[in-house]
Amino acid sequence: MNIRFYNAKILTMNGDMPVFDGELWTEDSRIIYVGDGSNLDEYYKRTGRSAIIWGREIDCKGNLIMPGFKNCHTHSAMTFLRSHADDLPLQDWLNNQVFPYEAKLSPQDIFEFTRIAILEYLTGGITEIMEMYLTPGSIAKCCQEMGMRVTQVGGVNNFSQSPELIDKRMEELNGKNDLTSFRVGFHAEYTCSLELLKKIADLSHKYKSPVFTHIQETKSETDGCIERYGKTPVALFNDLGMFDYGGAGYHLVWTNDEDRLIMKEKHVSVVTNPGSNSKLASGIAPISEYLNDGIPVAIGTDGPASNNCLDMFREMFLVTALAKLKTNDASAVPATEVLKMATYNGAHVMCTPDADCLAEGKLADIIMMDMNQPNMQPVWNIENNIVYSGSKSDIMMTMIAGVIRYDTFDGFQRFNVGKEVPDIYRDCEVIKKRIFG
Ligand SMILES: [Zn+2]
Repeated sequence: MNIRFYNAKILTMNGDMPVFDGELWTEDSRIIYVGDGSNLDEYYKRTGRSAIIWGREIDCKGNLIMPGFKNCHTHSAMTFLRSHADDLPLQDWLNNQVFPYEAKLSPQDIFEFTRIAILEYLTGGITEIMEMYLTPGSIAKCCQEMGMRVTQVGGVNNFSQSPELIDKRMEELNGKNDLTSFRVGFHAEYTCSLELLKKIADLSHKYKSPVFTHIQETKSETDGCIERYGKTPVALFNDLGMFDYGGAGYHLVWTNDEDRLIMKEKHVSVVTNPGSNSKLASGIAPISEYLNDGIPVAIGTDGPASNNCLDMFREMFLVTALAKLKTNDASAVPATEVLKMATYNGAHVMCTPDADCLAEGKLADIIMMDMNQPNMQPVWNIENNIVYSGSKSDIMMTMIAGVIRYDTFDGFQRFNVGKEVPDIYRDCEVIKKRIFG
């Protein structure tokens, strides 16, 4: 279907292109035109297109069209634990409140609780997630059914999953559809034996795949690795050949100069999770240092049990606010840089460069933001408004692969996800009661 968005303000995130008034056209899952609507004769001539028959024309009424947010680290189905056990130290929380209940989850339970997270992503303008959780098969099915773009990563550790299983999933979960993919990954150094880590490195070589994992989230985790191996997790993974095809680390709060040198040389990106790091008192990631060193930074919410909100607006504000506090410098990590992390960089970290910006031929993963809300007025600088005063309540539409999955065009929330929202809540409530008694 062809959809025309007109009378829009457009922020492409394509280089330094400023916000402009114009239109954007989609055809099926791709963008076929972005521009100010002038010079269309040249466009039709260049593309060989004749007049387009529109399946839908949407008057944006001066509201903003931009690329969707990329949530680069989450454990979606942990919605089942949201607000169940908060305000606890990380290890206590993990060992006593997370692992015992996770053990009771079936693939179908995870499918159902992933649905709640996806509803939340859609209402917050998130068009793509990087997921690490227990049953990638049922998660891929859920994302496909609801239309969410997802890059899943392995979460292997000493207690669950295995390199053999990751290998099998690399075969089973890639190349099957345009929305879902799977990459090599593991939980973290402190939950994996050296033998296991070596097997993960072998897998990344077999598939020439980047590797994704939690790294140096807490000081005790980092110190523990130094005690065990005489080096930080970043140095250990590098010595094992884990980063020969790049990758990304979730958190990366406690890095030193040597770690950052390795990351730059080996194209290891940072996925920062400031909401989770704040709530679990893990520390403040050195974002300014990463930017100074030329290391790409993307943003994730982490799971809804540790955050507890899957909200990229809150994460964006925290990225810059915490960096300013950490460096005692109000000019640290400006809003334009944060917005790039939340969109363009995220797409590249997730190995989906076609979703990075709005341009001809790119994926139609697009959101519309309401410019007629008090928190978005007056308009001096739209990028700054989004990062410093924007809110997920400003999201008017979330489109993924050219399909509108959520909108509030007529003032009411409308989801297009294959199942009624009250039914999703009801089914999750039943599972919740079964697990917790
Ligand atoms: Zn995590």
